[in-house]
Parts: sequence; structure tokens; C-alpha cells
Amino acid sequence: MEKVLIVDDSAVQAAKLKSILDEEYDITVAQTPEKGLQLASQGEFSLILLDVVMPGMDGFTLLKLLQETIITKSVPVILITSLSDIIHEQRGLTLGAVDYITKPFHPLIVQARVRTHIKLYKYRQQVERQSMTDQLTGVANRRRHDEYSAIKWSEATRLRHPFSICMFDIDHFKKYNDTFGHPAGDKVIASVAKVISEHLQRSTDFCARYGGEEFVAFMLGDSGEKAFGHLKSIRQKVEDLHIPHDPATAQWVTVSIGGVTIIPQKENSYDAYLKIADTMLYDAKRFGRNQVVWADEKLRQMREKP
Ligand code: GH3
Ligand code: MG
Ligand code: MG
Repeated sequence: MEKVLIVDDSAVQAAKLKSILDEEYDITVAQTPEKGLQLASQGEFSLILLDVVMPGMDGFTLLKLLQETIITKSVPVILITSLSDIIHEQRGLTLGAVDYITKPFHPLIVQARVRTHIKLYKYRQQVERQSMTDQLTGVANRRRHDEYSAIKWSEATRLRHPFSICMFDIDHFKKYNDTFGHPAGDKVIASVAKVISEHLQRSTDFCARYGGEEFVAFMLGDSGEKAFGHLKSIRQKVEDLHIPHDPATAQWVTVSIGGVTIIPQKENSYDAYLKIADTMLYDAKRFGRNQVVWADEKLRQMREKP
């Protein structure tokens, strides 16, 4: 059931709206704009019905605050008011309300408008989710990686948290495609993505498909030693899928992994460290593939298969 927030200082009006929508939605009522803002900021609502005339902060002011807050700015707001003149309506719509209902209202009209805006909101959310997801594997795509890594990098810099970045590349994949065909190769990419994402499940972990048969991941909070250990076990899990490769090249499908752990400082850039992870990956390939090569906090190299 979608959640709808009603912000109205009149208990009678709020109860009336609630009774109209109760059957279809999970309704929460806030009787002050302050309470409304606080509830809305929890980010669970699919629509907000907002009374314009309230003591203290009016609906226009609250609407403006909602529009300025990241969590609430995309949630549709319908203004409900007895102010039926065009100036007010125009002001509400300019401030970002999706609709404007004047009192007295007909229950069927309220239901219909609420339904439409929730439908549009959900559709938009779905499109946004899709635009950040890689179709083949279901993990984040590169665009999402670029956006999210910037956010997390600055957070780690501020909090002085260890940050680990790693790159994965499937070994001898050209040969795999040549032997088994491109569609079979696609399946392998999806299987490898599944192993990686299943083993990077903490809220501080993130992985994305970086391109073709390459993945990128980052983790917050672990020491280099610990991250290295974790990635060794993920590398092993891929090998343990026992996906047969071309026997002349390799027994199973495997991945090479390169990574680095740092405590980022203001003068460091994410891209520079991503490049170091890529250099470690290059070394993992050079040292024979199917292995992890890691650079620790002091940029000392750790090799899984020395
Ligand atoms: P290496 O062990 O050095 O990584 O060898 P490699 O053959 O994997 O070399 P490279 O990484 O340069 O080759 C990547 C190959 O991955 C090239 C391309 O045919 C294949 N590839 C890239 N994207 C896709 C994809 O979406 N689906 C499939 N099936 N293959 C892809
Ligand atoms: Mg590659
Ligand atoms: Mg490769």
C-alpha cells in the first residue's frame, strides 16, 4: 500500500480526507507544518496532500522547504485549499505543487487526482532506477558509479574512513566468446556479477558494471588487509562456479582483481586511486591471472600468488 501524508491543521478536514483515501492508501496525518516536514523527511511517502492556510508556517512555505530537501523534492504535493483565486493557484503550481484542489472538494475527484499522481510518481521512480541499472546484470551501471563514488569519496574524506576501490576483469574472455559465442558470454558476465554483488552486501559496499566484462567496486571502513582478504574469497567464489572455459586456455572462467585501500585526504582524487586499482589489475593479469593484487594504505603491494 502506498503511503500518503496529509498535512492539515484542521482535524476535521484531515479526517475527511483520510476517510476518502483510507481504503486505497496508508494514511498519516500531521496537524502542524513542522510535524509534516519531519514526517516527510523520513522519505516514505508517495504523495503529500498539503493544506495552504495554517497558523505559523503556511503551506506555500512548507512546499518550498520540501522542494529544497533532497529526500522530499521529488515527492508529488497536491495543495488543498479554500483559496480559490488564480493568483494563489499559480503561486502553488510555480512553487512545484503538481496539482491544486479547492474546497469544497468532491471525494471522487480527490481520489482520481491522487491516483494519477501516485501512478506518475511510481513510473518516474522506475525510470530513474532503470537509468542507473545495468540491464544485463542488474547491478549499478557506470553512470551510477560515477555519481555515487563521488558522494562516498567525499564522505570518507570528511570522516577519515578507509576506502577500498577495486577493479575486476574476466580472464581470457575474448577466447570464451570465440569458443562459446556471445550469448553464452553474456550469461557468464551476469553470473560473475551475481557472485560479486552477493558478496558485497553491506550498506557500505557498492559494485557496478564498469564496461564490457569489467566491474568496479568500493567498500568503506575496512583495512587494506581485510579488503584484500575479502576480495580473495570473492575471486575464489567465481572460480568455484566451475564454468568450463576453452580447455586449451583455462579450465574454468576466472577473474583477475586489482585494488587499493587508502584513507582519503582532501588533496586525493577518486580517479587517481581508481587508476592505481587498474594498475594492480594489470599486474594481476601480468602475474598470471585468476588472482588478487592489492595496494595497502602505504601503497605496499600484496599479491595473492607470489
Ligand atoms: P584478459 O584476460 O587479458 O582480460 O583477456 P580478455 O580476452 O578478457 O581481454 P579483454 O579484457 O581485452 O577482452 C574483453 C572482451 O570481452 C572483448 C569482448 O569480446 C568481450 N566483451 C565485452 N563486452 C561484452 C559483452 O557485453 N558481452 C560479451 N559476451 N562479451 C563482451
Ligand atoms: Mg577487459
Ligand atoms: Mg578480460
